[in-house]
Amino acid sequence: MSNRFFQPISGFDLPRFAGVPTFMRLPHVHPEHPKFSEVEIGLIGVPWDSGTTNRPGPRHGPRQLRDASTMIRAQHAASGFRPFEAANIADLGDVGPNPADIQDSMTRITTFYDQVVDAGIRPLTAGGDHLTSLPVLRSLSKAHGPLGMIHFDSHTDLFHSYFDGTMYTHGTPFRRAIEEELLDPKRVIQIGIRGTMYDSEDRDFADAVGIRIVPIEEFFARGLDDVMQEAREIVGNDKTYVSYDIDFVDPTFAPGTGTPEVGGPNSYQALQVCRALNGLNIVGADMVEVSPPFDQSGNTAYLGVSIMFELLCAMLDQR
Ligand code: MN
Ligand code: MN
Repeated sequence: MSNRFFQPISGFDLPRFAGVPTFMRLPHVHPEHPKFSEVEIGLIGVPWDSGTTNRPGPRHGPRQLRDASTMIRAQHAASGFRPFEAANIADLGDVGPNPADIQDSMTRITTFYDQVVDAGIRPLTAGGDHLTSLPVLRSLSKAHGPLGMIHFDSHTDLFHSYFDGTMYTHGTPFRRAIEEELLDPKRVIQIGIRGTMYDSEDRDFADAVGIRIVPIEEFFARGLDDVMQEAREIVGNDKTYVSYDIDFVDPTFAPGTGTPEVGGPNSYQALQVCRALNGLNIVGADMVEVSPPFDQSGNTAYLGVSIMFELLCAMLDQR
Protein backbone atom coordinates (compact mmCIF):
# COMPACT_ATOMS: atom_id res chain seq x y z
CA MET A 1 0.00 0.00 0.00
CA SER A 2 1.44 3.32 -1.05
CA ASN A 3 1.91 6.09 1.48
CA ARG A 4 0.46 9.56 0.99
CA PHE A 5 3.71 11.05 -0.27
CA PHE A 6 3.62 8.96 -3.45
CA GLN A 7 0.25 10.17 -4.71
CA PRO A 8 -0.19 12.04 -8.01
CA ILE A 9 -1.64 15.55 -7.93
CA SER A 10 -5.31 15.24 -8.85
CA GLY A 11 -6.94 17.41 -11.48
CA PHE A 12 -9.62 18.02 -8.82
CA ASP A 13 -7.01 19.86 -6.74
CA LEU A 14 -4.84 21.59 -9.33
CA PRO A 15 -5.78 21.92 -13.02
CA ARG A 16 -3.83 19.56 -15.26
CA PHE A 17 -2.23 22.43 -17.19
CA ALA A 18 -0.79 23.91 -13.98
CA GLY A 19 2.30 22.98 -12.02
CA VAL A 20 5.71 21.54 -12.91
CA PRO A 21 5.07 18.48 -15.11
CA THR A 22 6.40 15.20 -13.76
CA PHE A 23 5.42 11.74 -15.06
CA MET A 24 1.76 11.23 -14.18
CA ARG A 25 1.98 14.19 -11.74
CA LEU A 26 3.93 12.06 -9.26
CA PRO A 27 6.59 13.44 -6.91
CA HIS A 28 10.09 13.87 -8.33
CA VAL A 29 12.39 11.65 -6.26
CA HIS A 30 16.01 11.87 -7.47
CA PRO A 31 18.55 9.34 -6.14
CA GLU A 32 19.71 11.68 -3.32
CA HIS A 33 16.13 12.31 -2.16
CA PRO A 34 15.35 10.90 1.34
CA LYS A 35 12.37 8.97 -0.07
CA PHE A 36 14.42 7.24 -2.82
CA SER A 37 14.77 4.00 -0.84
CA GLU A 38 10.96 3.76 -0.49
CA VAL A 39 10.27 3.83 -4.24
CA GLU A 40 9.05 0.54 -5.76
CA ILE A 41 8.55 1.56 -9.40
CA GLY A 42 10.50 4.47 -10.86
CA LEU A 43 9.51 6.37 -14.01
CA ILE A 44 12.71 7.54 -15.69
CA GLY A 45 13.34 9.72 -18.73
CA VAL A 46 16.25 9.02 -21.07
CA PRO A 47 16.34 11.97 -23.50
CA TRP A 48 18.78 10.46 -25.93
CA ASP A 49 18.70 9.62 -29.66
CA SER A 50 22.35 9.20 -30.62
CA GLY A 51 21.58 5.67 -31.84
CA THR A 52 19.16 6.95 -34.47
CA THR A 53 20.16 6.09 -38.04
CA ASN A 54 17.51 8.09 -39.90
CA ARG A 55 15.03 10.70 -38.62
CA PRO A 56 15.99 11.90 -35.12
CA GLY A 57 13.94 13.43 -32.32
CA PRO A 58 13.42 10.98 -29.41
CA ARG A 59 15.84 13.09 -27.32
CA HIS A 60 12.79 15.35 -26.98
CA GLY A 61 10.52 12.43 -25.99
CA PRO A 62 10.66 12.49 -22.19
CA ARG A 63 9.74 16.17 -21.92
CA GLN A 64 6.69 15.83 -24.19
CA LEU A 65 5.73 12.52 -22.56
CA ARG A 66 5.83 14.18 -19.12
CA ASP A 67 3.62 16.99 -20.37
CA ALA A 68 1.14 14.55 -21.98
CA SER A 69 1.18 12.38 -18.85
CA THR A 70 -0.56 15.11 -16.86
CA MET A 71 -3.68 13.78 -18.65
CA ILE A 72 -3.37 10.39 -16.90
CA ARG A 73 -5.78 9.90 -14.00
CA ALA A 74 -5.39 7.59 -11.01
CA GLN A 75 -7.74 4.72 -11.91
CA HIS A 76 -7.64 2.18 -14.75
CA ALA A 77 -10.85 2.44 -16.75
CA ALA A 78 -11.42 -1.25 -17.52
CA SER A 79 -10.20 -2.93 -14.33
CA GLY A 80 -10.76 -0.21 -11.74
CA PHE A 81 -7.19 -0.77 -10.53
CA ARG A 82 -5.47 2.17 -8.80
CA PRO A 83 -1.72 1.68 -9.28
CA PHE A 84 -0.60 4.64 -7.17
CA GLU A 85 -2.34 3.11 -4.15
CA ALA A 86 -0.85 -0.33 -4.79
CA ALA A 87 2.81 0.72 -4.73
CA ASN A 88 5.16 3.65 -4.17
CA ILE A 89 5.67 5.10 -7.64
CA ALA A 90 7.71 8.21 -8.40
CA ASP A 91 9.34 10.18 -11.21
CA LEU A 92 13.07 9.60 -10.77
CA GLY A 93 13.96 12.34 -13.26
CA ASP A 94 16.08 12.10 -16.39
CA VAL A 95 19.43 10.46 -17.02
CA GLY A 96 21.60 13.12 -18.62
CA PRO A 97 23.29 11.58 -21.69
CA ASN A 98 26.29 12.88 -23.59
CA PRO A 99 24.73 13.55 -27.01
CA ALA A 100 28.16 13.61 -28.67
CA ASP A 101 29.39 10.25 -27.33
CA ILE A 102 27.43 6.99 -27.49
CA GLN A 103 29.71 4.93 -25.25
CA ASP A 104 29.87 7.64 -22.59
CA SER A 105 26.08 7.98 -22.72
CA MET A 106 25.60 4.24 -22.24
CA THR A 107 27.98 4.30 -19.25
CA ARG A 108 26.02 7.19 -17.73
CA ILE A 109 22.72 5.40 -18.26
CA THR A 110 23.94 2.10 -16.78
CA THR A 111 25.45 3.93 -13.78
CA PHE A 112 22.12 5.61 -13.08
CA TYR A 113 20.14 2.39 -13.50
CA ASP A 114 22.58 0.49 -11.26
CA GLN A 115 21.53 2.82 -8.43
CA VAL A 116 17.89 2.24 -9.26
CA VAL A 117 18.16 -1.54 -9.48
CA ASP A 118 20.37 -1.76 -6.35
CA ALA A 119 17.64 0.12 -4.43
CA GLY A 120 15.14 -2.57 -5.46
CA ILE A 121 13.27 -0.19 -7.76
CA ARG A 122 11.72 -1.53 -10.96
CA PRO A 123 12.30 0.96 -13.79
CA LEU A 124 9.68 2.07 -16.31
CA THR A 125 11.65 4.07 -18.86
CA ALA A 126 10.56 6.75 -21.30
CA GLY A 127 13.09 6.98 -24.16
CA GLY A 128 14.94 7.88 -26.08
CA ASP A 129 15.54 5.81 -29.18
CA HIS A 130 15.67 2.02 -28.95
CA LEU A 131 19.38 1.86 -28.16
CA THR A 132 18.27 3.10 -24.71
CA SER A 133 17.14 -0.44 -23.85
CA LEU A 134 20.70 -1.83 -24.04
CA PRO A 135 22.32 0.10 -21.13
CA VAL A 136 19.12 -0.44 -19.10
CA LEU A 137 19.27 -4.20 -19.71
CA ARG A 138 22.94 -4.20 -18.65
CA SER A 139 21.89 -2.99 -15.19
CA LEU A 140 18.89 -5.28 -14.87
CA SER A 141 20.78 -8.34 -16.00
CA LYS A 142 23.56 -7.68 -13.47
CA ALA A 143 20.96 -8.07 -10.72
CA HIS A 144 18.68 -10.69 -12.26
CA GLY A 145 20.68 -12.69 -14.82
CA PRO A 146 19.56 -13.16 -18.43
CA LEU A 147 15.97 -12.00 -18.87
CA GLY A 148 13.04 -12.98 -21.04
CA MET A 149 11.57 -10.19 -23.16
CA ILE A 150 8.29 -9.32 -24.79
CA HIS A 151 9.11 -6.78 -27.51
CA PHE A 152 6.51 -4.76 -29.42
CA ASP A 153 7.94 -3.16 -32.55
CA SER A 154 7.76 -2.96 -36.33
CA HIS A 155 11.44 -3.92 -36.38
CA THR A 156 13.51 -6.67 -34.81
CA ASP A 157 16.42 -4.35 -33.90
CA LEU A 158 18.60 -7.44 -34.28
CA PHE A 159 21.02 -6.25 -36.95
CA HIS A 160 24.72 -6.90 -36.53
CA SER A 161 25.95 -3.41 -37.50
CA TYR A 162 25.35 -0.34 -39.63
CA PHE A 163 27.70 1.70 -41.80
CA ASP A 164 30.31 -1.01 -42.16
CA GLY A 165 30.89 -1.93 -38.53
CA THR A 166 29.05 0.54 -36.28
CA MET A 167 27.78 -1.76 -33.56
CA TYR A 168 25.64 0.56 -31.42
CA THR A 169 22.54 1.97 -33.13
CA HIS A 170 18.80 1.72 -32.50
CA GLY A 171 18.75 -1.13 -35.03
CA THR A 172 21.18 -3.31 -33.06
CA PRO A 173 20.37 -3.22 -29.30
CA PHE A 174 18.93 -6.73 -29.01
CA ARG A 175 21.70 -8.31 -31.09
CA ARG A 176 24.16 -6.86 -28.52
CA ALA A 177 21.89 -7.90 -25.64
CA ILE A 178 21.92 -11.52 -26.85
CA GLU A 179 25.70 -11.48 -27.39
CA GLU A 180 26.24 -10.01 -23.91
CA GLU A 181 23.85 -12.63 -22.45
CA LEU A 182 21.55 -9.97 -21.02
CA LEU A 183 18.62 -11.78 -22.63
CA ASP A 184 17.80 -15.48 -22.94
CA PRO A 185 16.89 -15.71 -26.66
CA LYS A 186 14.63 -18.72 -26.08
CA ARG A 187 12.49 -16.51 -23.83
CA VAL A 188 12.27 -13.59 -26.28
CA ILE A 189 9.27 -12.84 -28.50
CA GLN A 190 9.03 -9.93 -30.95
CA ILE A 191 5.53 -8.92 -32.00
CA GLY A 192 4.31 -6.72 -34.88
CA ILE A 193 7.31 -7.01 -37.20
CA ARG A 194 6.65 -5.52 -40.64
CA GLY A 195 7.84 -3.14 -43.32
CA THR A 196 10.24 -3.46 -46.20
CA MET A 197 13.49 -5.15 -45.28
CA TYR A 198 17.18 -4.62 -46.00
CA ASP A 199 17.56 -8.40 -46.19
CA SER A 200 16.86 -11.40 -43.93
CA GLU A 201 19.98 -11.15 -41.77
CA ASP A 202 18.07 -10.14 -38.63
CA ARG A 203 15.47 -12.87 -39.03
CA ASP A 204 18.10 -15.48 -39.80
CA PHE A 205 19.86 -14.53 -36.56
CA ALA A 206 16.57 -14.79 -34.66
CA ASP A 207 15.96 -18.27 -36.09
CA ALA A 208 19.49 -19.37 -35.26
CA VAL A 209 19.29 -18.40 -31.58
CA GLY A 210 15.63 -19.28 -31.00
CA ILE A 211 13.95 -15.87 -30.84
CA ARG A 212 10.25 -16.05 -31.72
CA ILE A 213 9.16 -13.45 -34.28
CA VAL A 214 5.46 -12.76 -34.84
CA PRO A 215 5.07 -10.78 -38.07
CA ILE A 216 2.08 -8.45 -38.26
CA GLU A 217 0.36 -10.76 -40.77
CA GLU A 218 0.37 -13.56 -38.18
CA PHE A 219 -0.69 -11.15 -35.41
CA PHE A 220 -3.84 -10.18 -37.30
CA ALA A 221 -4.55 -13.67 -38.68
CA ARG A 222 -4.45 -15.34 -35.25
CA GLY A 223 -5.75 -12.44 -33.21
CA LEU A 224 -4.39 -10.52 -30.27
CA ASP A 225 -5.51 -12.87 -27.48
CA ASP A 226 -3.98 -15.96 -29.07
CA VAL A 227 -0.65 -14.25 -29.79
CA MET A 228 -0.42 -12.76 -26.31
CA GLN A 229 -1.17 -16.16 -24.76
CA GLU A 230 1.81 -17.54 -26.67
CA ALA A 231 3.92 -14.59 -25.45
CA ARG A 232 3.01 -15.42 -21.85
CA GLU A 233 3.99 -19.05 -22.39
CA ILE A 234 7.33 -18.14 -23.96
CA VAL A 235 8.47 -15.91 -21.07
CA GLY A 236 6.77 -18.04 -18.40
CA ASN A 237 6.98 -17.09 -14.72
CA ASP A 238 10.64 -16.07 -14.80
CA LYS A 239 11.98 -12.53 -14.88
CA THR A 240 10.94 -10.61 -17.96
CA TYR A 241 11.53 -7.23 -19.59
CA VAL A 242 8.91 -5.50 -21.73
CA SER A 243 10.19 -3.21 -24.48
CA TYR A 244 7.63 -1.15 -26.38
CA ASP A 245 8.64 0.78 -29.50
CA ILE A 246 5.87 3.25 -30.37
CA ASP A 247 6.32 2.33 -34.06
CA PHE A 248 4.56 -0.96 -33.22
CA VAL A 249 1.41 1.14 -33.58
CA ASP A 250 0.14 2.18 -37.02
CA PRO A 251 1.46 5.64 -37.99
CA THR A 252 -2.13 6.85 -38.37
CA PHE A 253 -2.25 6.73 -34.57
CA ALA A 254 1.45 7.30 -33.83
CA PRO A 255 3.01 9.48 -36.53
CA GLY A 256 5.54 10.97 -34.11
CA THR A 257 8.34 8.46 -34.63
CA GLY A 258 11.42 8.21 -36.80
CA THR A 259 10.82 4.91 -38.60
CA PRO A 260 7.06 4.52 -39.13
CA GLU A 261 5.70 1.38 -40.83
CA VAL A 262 2.15 1.27 -42.21
CA GLY A 263 -0.24 -1.62 -41.67
CA GLY A 264 -0.05 -1.82 -37.89
CA PRO A 265 -2.29 -2.11 -34.81
CA ASN A 266 -4.62 0.72 -33.84
CA SER A 267 -4.40 2.62 -30.56
CA TYR A 268 -6.96 0.37 -28.86
CA GLN A 269 -4.98 -2.74 -29.76
CA ALA A 270 -1.85 -0.91 -28.57
CA LEU A 271 -3.35 -0.79 -25.08
CA GLN A 272 -4.90 -4.26 -25.21
CA VAL A 273 -1.57 -6.02 -25.72
CA CYS A 274 -0.38 -4.49 -22.43
CA ARG A 275 -3.45 -5.70 -20.56
CA ALA A 276 -2.48 -9.23 -21.61
CA LEU A 277 0.77 -8.90 -19.60
CA ASN A 278 -0.92 -8.85 -16.20
CA GLY A 279 0.72 -11.01 -13.59
CA LEU A 280 3.94 -11.70 -15.48
CA ASN A 281 7.20 -11.31 -13.55
CA ILE A 282 8.13 -7.94 -15.09
CA VAL A 283 11.38 -6.49 -13.71
CA GLY A 284 11.38 -3.44 -16.00
CA ALA A 285 9.77 -1.94 -19.08
CA ASP A 286 10.25 0.85 -21.56
CA MET A 287 8.40 3.06 -24.06
CA VAL A 288 10.79 4.26 -26.75
CA GLU A 289 11.04 6.08 -30.09
CA VAL A 290 8.47 8.83 -29.46
CA SER A 291 9.78 11.69 -31.59
CA PRO A 292 7.91 14.95 -30.88
CA PRO A 293 9.18 16.87 -33.95
CA PHE A 294 7.17 14.52 -36.20
CA ASP A 295 3.89 15.04 -34.33
CA GLN A 296 3.34 18.55 -33.10
CA SER A 297 -0.22 17.58 -32.08
CA GLY A 298 1.21 15.56 -29.20
CA ASN A 299 -1.16 12.64 -29.87
CA THR A 300 1.73 10.18 -30.24
CA ALA A 301 3.05 11.21 -26.83
CA TYR A 302 -0.41 10.88 -25.31
CA LEU A 303 -0.64 7.34 -26.70
CA GLY A 304 2.88 6.71 -25.36
CA VAL A 305 2.00 7.67 -21.80
CA SER A 306 -1.29 5.81 -22.01
CA ILE A 307 0.75 2.71 -22.87
CA MET A 308 3.09 3.51 -19.96
CA PHE A 309 0.08 3.59 -17.62
CA GLU A 310 -1.02 0.17 -18.94
CA LEU A 311 2.51 -1.20 -18.42
CA LEU A 312 2.53 0.20 -14.89
CA CYS A 313 -0.73 -1.59 -14.10
CA ALA A 314 0.55 -4.82 -15.66
CA MET A 315 3.72 -4.59 -13.53
CA LEU A 316 1.58 -4.48 -10.38
CA ASP A 317 -0.61 -7.54 -11.12
CA GLN A 318 -4.05 -6.44 -10.05
CA ARG A 319 -5.69 -9.84 -10.46
MN1 MN B 1 12.78 -0.48 -32.11
MN1 MN C 1 10.83 0.18 -34.61
